[in-house]
Amino acid sequence: MKPFAYARPDDAAGAVATVAADPDAAFLAGGTNLVDHLKLGIASPTTLVDVTKLTSDRIEDLPGEGLRIGAGVRNTDLAVHRRVRAEYPVLAAALLAGASGQLRNMATTGGNLMQRTRCAYFQDRTTPCTKRDLSESCSARQGWTRYHAILGASESCIATHPSDMAVAMAILDAQVQVLGPDGERTIPLTEFHRLPGDDPTRDTVLGHGELITAVDLPAAPIAVNSTYRKVRDRASYAFALVSVAAALEVVNRTVQEVRIALGGVAHKPWRATTAEEALRGQAATDASFRAAAEAELASAEAVETPVGSNAFKVPLVVGTLTATLRSLAEEPA
Ligand code: SF4
Repeated sequence: MKPFAYARPDDAAGAVATVAADPDAAFLAGGTNLVDHLKLGIASPTTLVDVTKLTSDRIEDLPGEGLRIGAGVRNTDLAVHRRVRAEYPVLAAALLAGASGQLRNMATTGGNLMQRTRCAYFQDRTTPCTKRDLSESCSARQGWTRYHAILGASESCIATHPSDMAVAMAILDAQVQVLGPDGERTIPLTEFHRLPGDDPTRDTVLGHGELITAVDLPAAPIAVNSTYRKVRDRASYAFALVSVAAALEVVNRTVQEVRIALGGVAHKPWRATTAEEALRGQAATDASFRAAAEAELASAEAVETPVGSNAFKVPLVVGTLTATLRSLAEEPA
C-alpha cells in the first residue's frame, strides 16, 4: 500500500475544498470498499479526507411525508428505521440482503452508492481492465462473465454495479443531495450512476470534489406494497446474479401502478421503464408479468466467451420478476 495523508477537516465544506484542491485526494466514509482498494492497489490516493463525522448520521422527516437520509447513516440503522420498514419495505429488504451484519454496521448510505464493481478482473491488478485504465482492454470480454451485465453494456466494459440499496432507491424516486466546489445540487438516483460507454472509469456523474450529503425519499404511496428479491450463489455475503426491486398497486385485478428496477444486470441500477409501461392497465397475471419482463429484456445482450456465458441471466430475470410481481399481487400490504 502506498503511503497517504489523512485529513479530517472541521466541516463538509472543508472536506470538499480539500479534495477539490488535489486531483488525487479522495473521501473516506465507512471504508468497506475503499480500504480493500488501497490494499489491492486499485486506489492510491495522496490524501484521504475522512467525512464520517462531517455528514449527518440522522434520518429525518421531510415536509410532505418523505425522509432525508444523511449520507453518514449506517446501512444497519437505515434498515431497521421504523418509517423505512413501514413505508419503504423494499429499501429495508434490499439493505438486509446486502453484505453481512458487520459490514452493514460500517457501511454508510453515501458510501454504498459510491462502491465500485466487484468484477474480478477490476480487482486484480495483474489482469487488464478498461475501468482501471482506459489504455487497457476488458479482460471480462474474454473471460468469466457470470456476474456481468446483459443490459446497457459497451465494448469497453460489461461490469455491473454491486449495490442492493441503490436498486431499491431507483424505484423510490430518491434524490441524491450533493455538495461540491460550485455549491449544492440534487441528482435523481436514476441519473446518478452511469452506463459505461467509452469511459467506464467513471461510475457516477459526480465531479471530483463533489460529496454526497444526503439522500431524500419522497412519500412513497405504492412502495408500501413493495419488496426486494435477490438471486445469488449463496444465501448471504454474495452479490446479486440478478435482483428485482418492485412496487405494485392492483385495483380490480388490474395493474394500476408499478415500479420496477433490476440489479446485477447493468453498470447501474436498471429502472425497468419498458416493463412498467407494458404492465399499467393490464391484468395482474403471470402472463402479463412475464410478457413485461420479456419486453424489458428485448435489448439484452448476453456475453459469450471461451470460458462461459451469462445468457442464463435472461430467463433468470424473467422468472424472478414474474415471481416477485406475483407475490406482490397475491399479498398486497
Ligand atoms: Fe474492467 Fe469492466 Fe472489463 Fe471488468 S468488465 S474487466 S471492470 S472493463
